[in-house]
Amino acid sequence: MPAYAPPLADLAFLLHEVLGLERAGLPGAAELDRDTTAAILAEAGRLAADVLAPLNAAGDREGCRIENGGVRTPAGFPAAYAAMCAGGWTGLDCDPAHGGQGMPHVLHTAVGEMFVSANMALQMVAGLTHGAVSALAAHGSAEQKALYLPPLVAGRWTGTMNLTEPHCGTDLGLVATRAEPAPDGSWRITGTKIFISAGDHDLAPNIVHLVLARAPGGGAGTRGLSLFVVPKVLPDADGRLGARNAVVAARLERKMGIHGSPTCEMRYEGATGWLVGEPHKGMRAMFTMMNEARLGVGLQGLAQAAAAGQAAAAYARERLQGRAATGPAFPDRPADPLIVHPDIRRTLMDIRAFVEGGRALALWAAMLIDRSRSAGDAGAEGLASLLIPVVKGFLTDKGFEACVAAQQVWGGHGYVEDNGLAQYVRDARIAMIYEGANGIQALDLVARKLPSDGGRHIAAFLAEVRGAAADADPAFGAPLAAAAADLEAALAVFMAEGLRNPDAALAGASDFLHLAGHVALGLMWARMAAAARAALEAGRGDAAFLQAKLVTGRHWMARHLPATALHLARIRAGGATVMDLPAEAF
Ligand SMILES: Cc1cc2nc3c(=O)[nH]c(=O)nc-3n(C[C@H](O)[C@H](O)[C@H](O)COP(=O)(O)OP(=O)(O)OC[C@H]3O[C@@H](n4cnc5c(N)ncnc54)[C@H](O)[C@@H]3O)c2cc1C
Repeated sequence: MPAYAPPLADLAFLLHEVLGLERAGLPGAAELDRDTTAAILAEAGRLAADVLAPLNAAGDREGCRIENGGVRTPAGFPAAYAAMCAGGWTGLDCDPAHGGQGMPHVLHTAVGEMFVSANMALQMVAGLTHGAVSALAAHGSAEQKALYLPPLVAGRWTGTMNLTEPHCGTDLGLVATRAEPAPDGSWRITGTKIFISAGDHDLAPNIVHLVLARAPGGGAGTRGLSLFVVPKVLPDADGRLGARNAVVAARLERKMGIHGSPTCEMRYEGATGWLVGEPHKGMRAMFTMMNEARLGVGLQGLAQAAAAGQAAAAYARERLQGRAATGPAFPDRPADPLIVHPDIRRTLMDIRAFVEGGRALALWAAMLIDRSRSAGDAGAEGLASLLIPVVKGFLTDKGFEACVAAQQVWGGHGYVEDNGLAQYVRDARIAMIYEGANGIQALDLVARKLPSDGGRHIAAFLAEVRGAAADADPAFGAPLAAAAADLEAALAVFMAEGLRNPDAALAGASDFLHLAGHVALGLMWARMAAAARAALEAGRGDAAFLQAKLVTGRHWMARHLPATALHLARIRAGGATVMDLPAEAF
């Protein structure tokens, strides 16, 4: 298995040439000139390549186990996690008032990609903790912020999200975990949560569970849910740890991938918790961090594809099989390397065009989140919330596909477990399911995000796409304009069918998400091509890198963007074949 190489040049190109980080007017970004971001990314890249990546396969093989009533993570994970905390990476974009470094979310996202590529299972602990920080920072009381945020930001304590129960995943209106008020103002939480990532572990002495539960008087459905903070170990007002709370990880799931991440069944047996925010407004608190959490999961799909793609390219350069169709490329060797074969090249280019386009999309979305937070930019917020289901659904569906394609380059050696490709496939698969399964992302996009604010955000997105198509050279502009027309035609179908025939409209929801994903990457490639050309003309940067950008972008435009026509055809086909058979016929 080739060593993981952090994509430092590509991240720097995106942050500075495409997104103009230092000119974006974000807090903490003015000092982020090229040298400073290069130093930060290089340091993060070293941690990813030298500390996290070497534990990835071993962590997968060893997995987690319950020992003496607690969860043990694989050998090396506690020390590697401690190195992440010592480097300040857990609080990179957190508020300095809580011990964070106050840098933009977009930089946190760039660093996060490298950590996820290197070791998705371990990075999940930091990712969930970051989500807990955001929820408490937005909705916690002053006391809760003072008590929980400094140790969470520093990574000394970690966080979890407790939504799922045995009978409810997508439909959180069915949550049965109960919360009863106690005389001292705290609450007693009782119920079972399942599939809780990092619900217990040996990486930190305390775990801060955020739990959705039903308090009296809230009524049925999601409106009756409240959010509670339930620490594993009860701290005093100064954060000193005291007694164990009445919450245990009762068992661990055996699962397809992310074996280094403990997926716990959590039993709350009258555990002490405190209300976060207002009663019966728990879903609203969850929604606050949803954009960030879904971007984080989209990044997982992309990051696994990036790492698998690197491994595929390295193998294709070395593995000797067959001869080039145009005659031996290396006559002095017994055979040519795989990379001479057009079908292998196609596979590598497909992965590369997706990864580089997806990376641009993830960073753009992160920057929109920055703009919406720091400048209160409502347009950025609307665009971010429109794009987030696309980032989550498209990057994880396509990320998984890219991992499978990389595995294919390795042939049978990709299927056996020793070479690491199988792990990328297994690990990437979950990102399509959790944090709202991808079918739910498509529903969210079509039913909530398209009509929101009278369709203003999709109109703004289309205007960006049309503008980029008009400015681009024909190799980029013409396919992008055609794809934008397909997107507009699909919108017209939803407007006509949405209310009249919801089954017909929703039968096309996943196709719409993929259509929008293709267009979004088309927009990213048009922007990257323009930036590469400008840098080439100015004599800035590495010419070979910039020329490769142009070739890779043309590959997306010519070979992937036409998929919008197929998605449009399926959307126009409506719900007939999808809904016609009676349920008993299945
Ligand atoms: C490894 C792992 C880690 C996880 N970590 C966490 C965690 O940390 N915290 C946490 O709370 N949960 C976690 N989960 C749970 C995860 O978020 C849920 O599994 C997910 O939300 C789907 O819920 P479900 O499994 O109950 O599937 P269901 O809700 O039963 O859905 C099954 C399928 O039906 C589709 N579907 C459901 N409803 C509809 C609808 N109305 N319209 C169309 N399609 C629909 C879904 O898209 C899905 O494909 C984790 C799960 C796993 C496997």
